[in-house]
Amino acid sequence: MQKSLLANLQSVLSSDLRSTLQSCVILRRPDRDQIASFVGWGRSKTDSLLLELQNSGLIQRYRDNEAGQGRPPYLYAPTKSLGIVVGIELGVDTDHIVVTDLRQNILETVSFSNERPTADPIAEIVQRVVRTIETPGYSLKEIIGIGLSAAIQFNSHNASGRIVSFTNECANLIGSQLTKELNIHVYVGRPQVMIAYDTHWRTLIADKTSFVSAFFAHNVGISHFVEGKPYGGSSGLGADLGHLKIPFSNRTCYCGRSGCFRTIVSYEGVAQTLSERAKLIPQLASRYTRSPLGSAIDSPESAVREVVQLARNGNSFGVDLVATLGEQIGSTLSSAVSLFHPSALSIHSCYVDAGPVFTDPVTIALRRSCLELYTENLEIDFYGLSPQNIARGSASFAIIRSMEELVSYQEDTRKR
Ligand SMILES: [Zn+2]
Repeated sequence: MQKSLLANLQSVLSSDLRSTLQSCVILRRPDRDQIASFVGWGRSKTDSLLLELQNSGLIQRYRDNEAGQGRPPYLYAPTKSLGIVVGIELGVDTDHIVVTDLRQNILETVSFSNERPTADPIAEIVQRVVRTIETPGYSLKEIIGIGLSAAIQFNSHNASGRIVSFTNECANLIGSQLTKELNIHVYVGRPQVMIAYDTHWRTLIADKTSFVSAFFAHNVGISHFVEGKPYGGSSGLGADLGHLKIPFSNRTCYCGRSGCFRTIVSYEGVAQTLSERAKLIPQLASRYTRSPLGSAIDSPESAVREVVQLARNGNSFGVDLVATLGEQIGSTLSSAVSLFHPSALSIHSCYVDAGPVFTDPVTIALRRSCLELYTENLEIDFYGLSPQNIARGSASFAIIRSMEELVSYQEDTRKR
C-alpha cells in the first residue's frame, strides 16, 4: 500500500524539522521569533531549520505589506502543495464536507441531505468522501488527515426507519473504515469540540486557562478546554448539556426521559414552542399549524431562522420568544460557569443573529445566577452559526491533530 502523506513526512524529516513545520502550520503565519519561542530554540538554529524547510518546498516565507510602519518581519506558512485536509460534519439532516489547505483556506464545500437508506450508511459516507475528493481533482495522496464530527444519538432511527443521526460508535466505525480504505488518518470528535476549533484555533493552542464553548442548533453541546485541550472525562465524550434536566421543561426527549434542556433550546425545541404559541396568535397560526404537528416541526431550522429574523426586526412575538430563550440559556449555562470557572465562554448559535434581543438576556441571566467572583473577569463571546462552521472546525481539528502526530512520531532507532 502506498505510504500516506503524513507517514512520508514523518519518515523523511528529522524531528527538529518536524517541530519547525508544525509551528509554521499551527501558529498560523508566525514570524521567526514566534516560532523560536514555540519550539524553544535560539534564533540561529530556528533560521537554519526554516531555510531547510523552504529549500525542500514545504514552507514559504513572505512579508505582510499591510503591517504598517517599518520593515515587517518575514512570516512563514506551509506551501499550498504541502497537502489538504477534509472536515466532515455528520449532521442531523444534512452532512457537510469542507476541503481546506493547511493554511485553512477553503478549497471546496459540499453539502448533502442525509436521507440515505439504512442498508449501509457507513459505506455510503466513505464513498461520498472519496467521490468528494476525487471529483474536483484532488488526489487522495494529497490528504494529510480527515476530521469527522458526529453527535451521539441514543436511537439512530426515526419513526419511518431512516437514520436521523449517528452514534459515536457509528462515527468511530466510519473513522476506522476510512482510515483503512483510504490509508489516511481520520480524527473523530464531537461537534461542540469542532466548533471551538473553528473559532478559537489560536487561543486553544496558546491559552493555558480554562475555556468553555457551547452551541445551540439541531444539537446542543458544550465543551470544556483545559490548557488548550478538550477535556474528555472518563469516557472521552466530555461534558453533556443537551440532556441536562432543567426546571422549565416537561417535554419528552428522544433519549426517553423528560425535561432535557435540548427539548427547549434546540431548533426542534424552539420550533415546538413556536408552534404552541402560534396557536394563540391568528396571523401566525395559519403559517405554523397547517399540519397536525405544525409545519414548524417539519422544518425546524427555517422556522427558527424566521423567528430570529422577526426578533431582529423588533416584532414583539419574535422578541419575546428569543429573549425568553436567551434567559433560559444564560441561567442554564451559569452552572457550567460556576463548575468550571472558565476565563472565557463562547456561545455559537443562529439565535445570536437576533442581536442584543438574544445576547443581553443571556449575559444578564448568567451574571445574575453566578457569584460575582465567577463572572467579573469572564469574557463572553457570541458567534453566529453557519452550516459549514462545524465541518470547517473538523478540518482545523484534523490539521492540529495531524501536526501533533507528525511531531510525536518516533524515528526507527535500529536497535533490533
Ligand atoms: Zn434527553
